[in-house]
Amino acid sequence: MFHAAVRSAARVALKPARPLAARALSTTPARFSGAPTAQVFGEGAKPGEVPTDDVQSTGLERLQVLGEKEGVEVFDLKPLDSSRIGTLADPVLVNSYTHSRLIGCTGSPAESHELLWMNLTTEKNRRCPECGSVYRLDYQGEDSVHFHGH
Ligand SMILES: [Zn+2]
Repeated sequence: MFHAAVRSAARVALKPARPLAARALSTTPARFSGAPTAQVFGEGAKPGEVPTDDVQSTGLERLQVLGEKEGVEVFDLKPLDSSRIGTLADPVLVNSYTHSRLIGCTGSPAESHELLWMNLTTEKNRRCPECGSVYRLDYQGEDSVHFHGH
């Protein structure tokens, strides 16, 4: 349920804004797919009740609420893995939902050398010129999704 919600919300968030069709809202949701998709909106409060985030949050906020319930950090705040030096044979994998991601290496352990920024892409692994740690982009995205500014 949660993972399905992440997928559908990510798809919505990443899609280029489409001009809103002049279509009645009531006819829109069910038509797009045969299979039931995860809802990124709740059922709302019952009459006489004050709504909670659980029942009334929608969209990205709801995604975070659902994530918290399952102990999943939806928007990852963890720093780059600096527990080891990546080697050519066993590079440090860096998750990404796009084909490139900026990384800042400070060596292993973290802060052992000055911060060096590198642009990691799916085409090319990067090796830090300072500590020699090798990084590889671990692409998690969907190629059917198109990104702007690329
Ligand atoms: Zn380094």
